[in-house]
Amino acid sequence: MNFHVITIFPEICQVYTDASVLGRAQKTDKGKGAKVRGKKILVSYYNPRDFTTDKHHKVDERPYGGGPGMVMKAEPILKAWEKAVGRKKGKVKTLIMSPRGKKFDQILAKKLAKDFEHIVLISGRYEGIDDRVKTILKAEEVSVGDYVLTGGELPALTIIDAVAREIPGVLGTYESLEDQRPTSGVSYTRPDVLVWKSKKHSVPEVLLKGDQKKIDEYRTGG
Ligand code: SAH
Repeated sequence: MNFHVITIFPEICQVYTDASVLGRAQKTDKGKGAKVRGKKILVSYYNPRDFTTDKHHKVDERPYGGGPGMVMKAEPILKAWEKAVGRKKGKVKTLIMSPRGKKFDQILAKKLAKDFEHIVLISGRYEGIDDRVKTILKAEEVSVGDYVLTGGELPALTIIDAVAREIPGVLGTYESLEDQRPTSGVSYTRPDVLVWKSKKHSVPEVLLKGDQKKIDEYRTGG
């Protein structure tokens, strides 16, 4: 899976996608037990500023019809998209981050992971993006929740993170097994009795006794 992020702040996103699970998934896996070898995902960044032609590398302009704030210009974004996937033959999906878009959820994450080879995530700033980008690229607007953020970078990272963990081999065997296990959503680890500010906090006894049937019942809330 190839993720292509169009953002004027690539550096704030890259530290996240280079770390931990996502970072590991972008490296070649030579581990013996690894089911899927090679890179499982690739995250590339494209800065609209690099696709401007004016001296000041301007990516925003005032909105037609007036109103406060600035709007991201279409052309630098379209050119960045061209560079990212213009010649790609595989299945491409283009998503524009927008608080007015379709709500992102686990079902959409699974679908994106299954159906596409390239996902382009266009991250807005200011008052948003010239609407013609959506029409020209046949893009879908996606929202990560009913709140407004200052930019589309966190939404783009959220989507990459959720889609990536649906791709076989991205989660380690251990993590994916954990993922399939019934769980009550709460977990405990050592020590079994935690002393915090002179008060003792114990782990539920059923989890310490080793009766797997009872443990599963507890975890599924039964
Ligand atoms: N007034 C604008 C808000 C722009 S917020 C509007 O009504 O659309 C600036 C940018 O942040 C947006 O272009 C979008 O890319 C991103 N953004 C903000 N909140 C978001 C959300 N909940 N989901 C996805 N993207 C969001």
